[in-house]
Amino acid sequence: MKKENIFKKDGSKFYLIAFAVLFAALIARIVFVGNVNNGTIQNVTNAKAPIELSFSDVLRRSGDIKTMDINKDNVATGVLKDGTPYRATIAYNPELLEKISKNGASVSINNRESVWDGVARWLPILVSAVFLIWLFKILRGGNGGGGITRSLIGQNPTKITTGKTKTTFKDVAGIDSEKQELMEVVDFLKNKEKFKALGARVPRGILLSGEPGTGKTLLARAVAGEANVPFFATSGSDFSGIIVGLGVAKIKEIFELAKRNAPCILFMDEIDAIGQSRSKHTINDNDREQTLNQLLIEMDGFSNETGIIVIAATNRPDMLDKALLRPGRFDRQINIELPNLEGRRDILDLHAKKFKISEHVSMMDVARGTTGFSGADLENLLNESALHAVRAGHKVVEQSDIEEARDKILMGPKKNRKMRPEDIKLTAYHEAGHAFVGVHYRDITDPIHKATIVPRGRALGIVQHMPVDDKVSMTLEEVRANLAIDLAGRAAEEVFFGKNKITTGAASDIEMATNTARRSITMAGLSEKIGMVAINQATSFGQKIALENASEKTAEAVDAEIRAWIENAYKDAKNLVSKNKATVDKLAKALLDKETLSGEEIREIVLGKKAVAKKKTTKPAKKSNAKK
Ligand code: ADP
Ligand code: ZN
Repeated sequence: MKKENIFKKDGSKFYLIAFAVLFAALIARIVFVGNVNNGTIQNVTNAKAPIELSFSDVLRRSGDIKTMDINKDNVATGVLKDGTPYRATIAYNPELLEKISKNGASVSINNRESVWDGVARWLPILVSAVFLIWLFKILRGGNGGGGITRSLIGQNPTKITTGKTKTTFKDVAGIDSEKQELMEVVDFLKNKEKFKALGARVPRGILLSGEPGTGKTLLARAVAGEANVPFFATSGSDFSGIIVGLGVAKIKEIFELAKRNAPCILFMDEIDAIGQSRSKHTINDNDREQTLNQLLIEMDGFSNETGIIVIAATNRPDMLDKALLRPGRFDRQINIELPNLEGRRDILDLHAKKFKISEHVSMMDVARGTTGFSGADLENLLNESALHAVRAGHKVVEQSDIEEARDKILMGPKKNRKMRPEDIKLTAYHEAGHAFVGVHYRDITDPIHKATIVPRGRALGIVQHMPVDDKVSMTLEEVRANLAIDLAGRAAEEVFFGKNKITTGAASDIEMATNTARRSITMAGLSEKIGMVAINQATSFGQKIALENASEKTAEAVDAEIRAWIENAYKDAKNLVSKNKATVDKLAKALLDKETLSGEEIREIVLGKKAVAKKKTTKPAKKSNAKK
């Protein structure tokens, strides 16, 4: 498939265009720089390679952002609150900036003094004069305003991917019901006559919603491939420009193109960029509203017989203007969830065909350890595994390569951090504490997958649990057990090294336990004291605002209850560790000796070889979260 600029450059008006663009760019620059506080330029050089965030990631994780440095091209760099550097291309949006800075992040616009700035001071006046003269000439020449917009489009091409696609439903795994729904569309494109004869109404617009990487683009492309019709892909973010009215013109052009090539699939990614609810005011509102209106006009304008199916994708369906979802527009909505256990296995199996993978690898086990991974994440996992296999000199991708890739994706690369021997020792006892209490609660919680004291990312060590199934809820008993497991690291530190030697290393354990307790109490109604009242509620951005709709009294009661739960869990963990000091000691020594212990090895140390062999068939369980 090739990228192609659908708008031809208009040579005769080159100078006009050049001036117009220059002019617009300068104006935009002045507005842009003037609009935002001139924060300091953050030095975000960091040893780690930045992670790539999509615009939707930035929106979703705006609370995690510590610094953001935006350059001229709307490329944002900075660090997250946990210190991870990131890089993202963002759509310039004052609302977003306000939100991010409200969360305590420092946002800066890169306004380094450059030649441009010098020029910018005096050139606009000159250029606008010249521009106006040109404009007059052109208008008098009977060319009309349309010609100008058209030329402007020429200089601001809409990125559009086009062509026939070979992708079919065979390339999509794990989302069978969604495929089934789209079958009908394929059928329609193939047998228009049949549908017409029956008078059946086929949707013109289909909205695919789902998290990034769940296969929305892939599905849309597969529909085109199955029906053997051309596929045009564009993105909503391409329609918001600095030149007012450009979006409208671009929408017109794209629909013209689609009509000329019908039957076809017109795919519009990130529809929320133009289809955002009109009540959410931003500076660019007017322009965007016009663009949205044009889209609605186009959608209403073509009849079903044309055979254009518009497929739009978004990960924020809740933000869309309701007008978009009316009958005759995007009236069919398909939500793509993150794949479940079987879905993950199917996706892994599909992509595994591209690699040479050892026959000892069980994709079901890989699927178990990848709760929350999207299709794209899974593909990336296999890619990383193959890279690791090459580096390790393996002939085929081994289980160990996949394990390494998964840990790297979840927690960051292995650190070759030089640690003081006493820190290593303390980490071993800390992890041994988690592991022991984890085995103790093996009947109610997910089985332990492994424990390690090899530092990775920010963690000095981890105990991983592995689910048997996708778990959708937890029992109260399970919540309590998990809290005790979370706090068992700190408990072991205290039991073995004394009250004064406890470390800051348990910070993320404490955070996790607090979150679990808070959610259970304020959202799930698991606390008898507080009752079944939802106190934390999701904001439109999916974040939870603590105690937003609670009276001061309730807030105090909630805080006390969280504290009580945590204290109880800690008592429980400390009790278990001190009563079984010898076993925990054995676990810690084994960790110091081998660095990493498998779940099996841990159970053998705690329960004895025989018990493990006998219980081998017991169910294993969920979550693969890291525990320091
Ligand atoms: P989205 O548009 O939802 O962000 P994409 O369709 O771009 O996601 O997915 C990116 C890649 O991830 C796809 O090209 C494909 O390789 C892989 N992928 C995602 N979902 C699936 C799936 N259900 N089956 C197979 N591959 C998938
Ligand atoms: Zn820990």
